[in-house]
Amino acid sequence: MFKKILVANRGEIALRIQRACRELGVRAVMVYSEADREAKYVKLAEEAVCIGPAQSALSYLNMPAIISAAEVTDAEAIHPGYGFLSENADFAERVERSGFQFIGPTPESIRLMGDKVSAKQAMIKAGVPCVPGSEGELPDDPALIRRIAKAVGYPVIIKAAGGGGGRGMRVVHTEAALVNAVSMTRAEAGAAFGNPAVYLEKFLQNPRHIEIQVLADKFKNAVYLGERDCSMQRRHQKIIEEAPAPGIARKLIERLGERCVTACKKIGYRGAGTFEFLYENGEFYFIEMNTRVQVEHPVTEMTTGVDIVKTQIMVAAGEKLPFTQRQIQIRGHAIECRINAEDPYKCTPSPGRISMWHAPGGPGVRVDSHIYTNYFVPPNYDSMIGKIIVHGDTREQALARMTTALGETVVEGISSNIALHRELMLDAKFVSGGTNIHYLEEWLSHHQR
Ligand code: ADP
Repeated sequence: MFKKILVANRGEIALRIQRACRELGVRAVMVYSEADREAKYVKLAEEAVCIGPAQSALSYLNMPAIISAAEVTDAEAIHPGYGFLSENADFAERVERSGFQFIGPTPESIRLMGDKVSAKQAMIKAGVPCVPGSEGELPDDPALIRRIAKAVGYPVIIKAAGGGGGRGMRVVHTEAALVNAVSMTRAEAGAAFGNPAVYLEKFLQNPRHIEIQVLADKFKNAVYLGERDCSMQRRHQKIIEEAPAPGIARKLIERLGERCVTACKKIGYRGAGTFEFLYENGEFYFIEMNTRVQVEHPVTEMTTGVDIVKTQIMVAAGEKLPFTQRQIQIRGHAIECRINAEDPYKCTPSPGRISMWHAPGGPGVRVDSHIYTNYFVPPNYDSMIGKIIVHGDTREQALARMTTALGETVVEGISSNIALHRELMLDAKFVSGGTNIHYLEEWLSHHQR
């Protein structure tokens, strides 16, 4: 096992990784920007290094500053968390070239899955079901593009191979709009991602977002830890996640999970990863793979008892996965609510000083958050200030626990979306389970105050 790990992230995930390190007896070196000097995990740290000013580009995205911080503190490995540099293959490569272990997959795996065209081709080869669409990148010839779209059937979605964060996509309903939409998406993709390649696939009208968590080691052992339903989204940002997905037959999930495990073995994947799917009319369609730990990993930890972050560190240190697929049992139901510093209905960010914070508690309640009373939420980063996760024997019990937990939570001084979560926990459609990816936005459009 490593003696020392550098945590190249901020916020709740930095604290989560610090906790995993403590449990493993590993020293965690925290890095922070000038805006995060007062963060809880920095105050709790045995060692912390300032890596630059508030702007992410100069701190959390500053590769030389992060690598130097690892050098001066004699860290052996770097955990990238999520966001920032976590899916940057060049960063992973620089980390390894500088003699540190990157806690994540190889740069080759990140590169393969980071390009959506190559990812989709790899998945088709591995037998993972994908959205029907163009075979690879779209050609330049307009007649050929029209022929491909016609064969797939309208509506179609044009997507940038290098896209991410919900950007670089355009839905096309008619042939008349097709060629222009392709040119526009290409131009935007070139400017935004430095890669003008685009592809096309069938646009699914009312899907759910279902994803499979995997863990793999360097010895080609891989397991899946069940699924998560992350359909409650606003502008492609997940707000509520749960496990298992309500109303989907276990047999279907098992078949899908096994395919994902096979794919991991085929591409030599190591570490934690998530295969994201759209689910419609009883079918799953792969959309992308995230090659890192995800915000919503706790719902899987609560239902399987597996510590995903500790396992990531163990497999990066060269250990074997400490369990086999047969030992993975799904127990009960877990729900996560992301707590954001924002107006609950308009969703505009609300940074500032938290004058009062009281976290919920009780059986089956977990809070992952770096905030505290008198903490200042900086305006420079994502608005998520924490996550409340609950576990119950059944979904009903989990919903009741979440309602109780949200009722106990106090955030004063800034706005938070707790009121929104409280309403959603009582919403008849959400309570009955299986809402699609448009549900929350439609709900919000009827509930603007
Ligand atoms: P990103 O990497 O930008 O998050 P994804 O490929 O994961 O891109 O897609 C983001 C979201 O866009 C999905 O969660 C879904 O809401 C929508 N989307 C993507 N592909 C399709 C599709 N073929 N049909 C319908 N919606 C889609």
